[in-house]
Parts: sequence; C-alpha cells; structure tokens
Amino acid sequence: MEPYTNQEHDIFRDQFRRFCEKEIAPLVDEAERNQVFPRNLFPIMGQMGFLCIRYPEEYGGAGADKITDVILREELSRVCQGIATSWSGHSHLATYPIFRLGSEEQRQKYLVPAIKGDKIGAFALTEPDAGSDTKSLRSTATRTDQGYMLRGSKTFISNAPIADYFVVAAYTDKAQGYHGISLFLVDAQTPGLSVTKLDKEGIRSSDTGEVSFDDCLVGDNALLGGKEGNFNLIMETLNEGRVGVAANMVGVAQAAYEASLRYARERVQFGKPIGKFQAVSHKVADMATQIMAARHMVYSAARLIDLGRPCTLEASACKLFASEVAVQTAREAIQIHGGYGIMREFPVFRYLSDALVYTIGEGTSEIQRNIIAKQIGL
Ligand SMILES: Cc1cc2nc3c(=O)[nH]c(=O)nc-3n(C[C@H](O)[C@H](O)[C@H](O)COP(=O)(O)OP(=O)(O)OC[C@H]3O[C@@H](n4cnc5c(N)ncnc54)[C@H](O)[C@@H]3O)c2cc1C
Repeated sequence: MEPYTNQEHDIFRDQFRRFCEKEIAPLVDEAERNQVFPRNLFPIMGQMGFLCIRYPEEYGGAGADKITDVILREELSRVCQGIATSWSGHSHLATYPIFRLGSEEQRQKYLVPAIKGDKIGAFALTEPDAGSDTKSLRSTATRTDQGYMLRGSKTFISNAPIADYFVVAAYTDKAQGYHGISLFLVDAQTPGLSVTKLDKEGIRSSDTGEVSFDDCLVGDNALLGGKEGNFNLIMETLNEGRVGVAANMVGVAQAAYEASLRYARERVQFGKPIGKFQAVSHKVADMATQIMAARHMVYSAARLIDLGRPCTLEASACKLFASEVAVQTAREAIQIHGGYGIMREFPVFRYLSDALVYTIGEGTSEIQRNIIAKQIGL
C-alpha cells in the first residue's frame, strides 16, 4: 500500500493472505451458519505469531508496527469479519489495557497466554443502559476485606461465551465521576460471573454475549495495575481501536468489491457481461474509488500511531468513513448480484450485515461525528 508500506510489510501481507485463504476461508461457512467461533483457530494463529502482534517479543508478541496491524486486519476481514471481530476483541481490546498498565504478574498471567492463543480475552465495557454514554455505566466494584465485590451486567460483549478472562470496567468511586471508573481482570470461572450467548445478525461467527456479575468477589490483584481510576486508558484503547476497526472495514469493502468485479465480468444479460452496462461499471468504479480513499485514511492514521503522534481526529474520521464505505459497497454489491445477492450461496449479503455492525460497534457513526466536530472546534 504505497506510500505507507515497505518490502517487509508487503511480504507479510502475501504470507498472511495465503494463511487466511488456506486456513480460515474453509471454516467460514460453518462458523457463520452455526454462530460458533472456530476456537481452535486461536492457538494456531498464536503459534504462527498472528495474534496480538503489536506487543513486544519479551511477552511472545511480534513487536509489529500499526501498519502491519492494519494489513493483518484488512486481510482477515476480507475473508471473514466475524472471525476478525473475535481476533480484534482479543488481540486489541482485551489485551491492550494489560500491556499498557498491567502489573508484571498480570502480564504473565493474562497477556502471555493471550498472545499464544491459550487464553481468550473479552473486553466488557458496554452495559444495557450504558452504550455510547460510557460514563453512565452502573457496574460497581466495592472494596471489601477480601478484595473487590463486582456487581452489574454487561452486554454485546464480543468473545464473552468463549472467554477465559474479562477486562471489566466498573465504578470503584462514584464520587470521583468518570475518573472513578476502574478496570479489573476477571477469570471466567469466578463464582458469581455468568454469561448468556446472544443471537444476532451480522458477524455471526463471532460469539457475543451478556455477562452478569452477581456478588462476584475478586482479589485485590484483579485491579488492573493495582491502581484505581482507568478511564483515560479506556479512551486510549478505544481510540487506537478505531483505526484498527477502520482497517477491518476496508477489508470487508474490498471483499464486496472483488465479488462485484468478478460477477460484473461473468454475468451475461442482453448478450454481454453486465459490467459493460455503464450503470453497473460506474457502481464498481465508485467502489474502487471509495475504497482507495478509505484505505489512504486508515494507513495515514496508522502511520501517525507509529510516529507516536496524536490522532483522535484521524482515528474517528477513518472509522466513520471506512464503515460507511463498507456499508455502501456491500449494498451496491447486492444490487449488482441481483437475486443472487440475496442468496446465501453468495457472501455479499453477509458483507452488508457485517459492515452494518460497524456503523454501531466501537462507537457509532454519530458518536464519531461528535468527536470529529469537537476536534475541529465545534
Ligand atoms: C456485535 C457487537 C459487538 C460488540 N462488542 C463489544 C465488546 O466487545 N465490548 C464492549 O464493551 N462493547 C461491545 N459492543 C457495544 C458497542 O460498542 C455499542 O453497541 C455502541 O457503543 C453503541 O451503544 P448502544 O448499542 O447502547 O447504542 P446507544 O448508545 O443507545 O445509541 C443508540 C442510537 O443513539 C445514537 N446516539 C447516542 N448518543 C448520541 C449522541 N450523544 N449524539 C448523537 N447520537 C447519539 C447512537 O449513535 C445510535 O444511533 C458491541 C456491539 C455490537 C453490536
């Protein structure tokens, strides 16, 4: 992806694309149909060094830059966004806070096995009454003689039904406002923690669930970094995550575009391939143009992260734009496929359902516009 990548990036893309096509593509139909994430994939990806690639080698990571991360996400989503969602929930949301602020003991207990794919993580922030308005979350963690007592519930949590541990946001001190929100590392087997799997449209191969904490007692060592007050880290995690999610959406849009290009060349009506009709060829030309623009936005935001520069505006802008491009591209892909676009035999309807999730998940399009407006001084 000129001018952002070097030869190493390009070799990585080739290698990872081959892995996706050989090892992941054959799993997609069944995983999507049954709504079950192919759990065995994580240890395989861990062994190959394809999980949690951003973290340093001392913890088993590849120490990869953000450009490599967006390449991986693009390629993974091109094959299956559901699997990419589980990958992202694990490789970023449920590990980044541990890497950034976890104690050495917490890194050894959770981060190291997560990088290997031996433990699966989930990030539990959203609640039934606290979605976009994160600060209004109601879960509490009350200090007791034995540790912290967690009470509350979380919803829409990716990987919850298959998770070995959760990164959980809860108020430790309401008097401090949102600065009183802290993060906890909670083992899935902890008494009082229960998970209910959710049935959904879109990213069906990613397991999603509700999580309840009913008098769920955890030790003091469950508090991330041993320090209360982690709201800024939550925001930092979501901010970098937006660039990643935008890359995922470029991958979905690319898949819809490739399917459309193929179909427009093959499908013959009125004696010629439908791609020869301007109404169709212009749709595909628009897809190519929009994807090009989205990809440039994503790679330039990734570059800012690699340079250690602030990118709140760019992260929200690329998440907003790429997810809307993915929806638009998938919508047109269905139109180009005619009746076949509605049939499960073709994946294009899946691309639309998957893309729609991401005008909502990890910050809705409206919330991205609010952030952008604030960043540009409104
Ligand atoms: C499949 C899936 C997986 C998810 N995975 C996770 C996960 O792993 N961990 C996690 O913590 N969360 C997860 N989420 C939750 C996701 O981040 C939230 O759904 C999202 O933040 C929106 O919250 P909400 O659904 O409650 O919508 P709401 O916040 O209730 O919003 C409803 C509507 O109102 C609009 N709205 C709200 N406030 C404003 C405002 N101030 N200005 C303008 N419009 C506004 C929204 O844009 C939206 O259109 C997941 C969601 C989905 C669908």
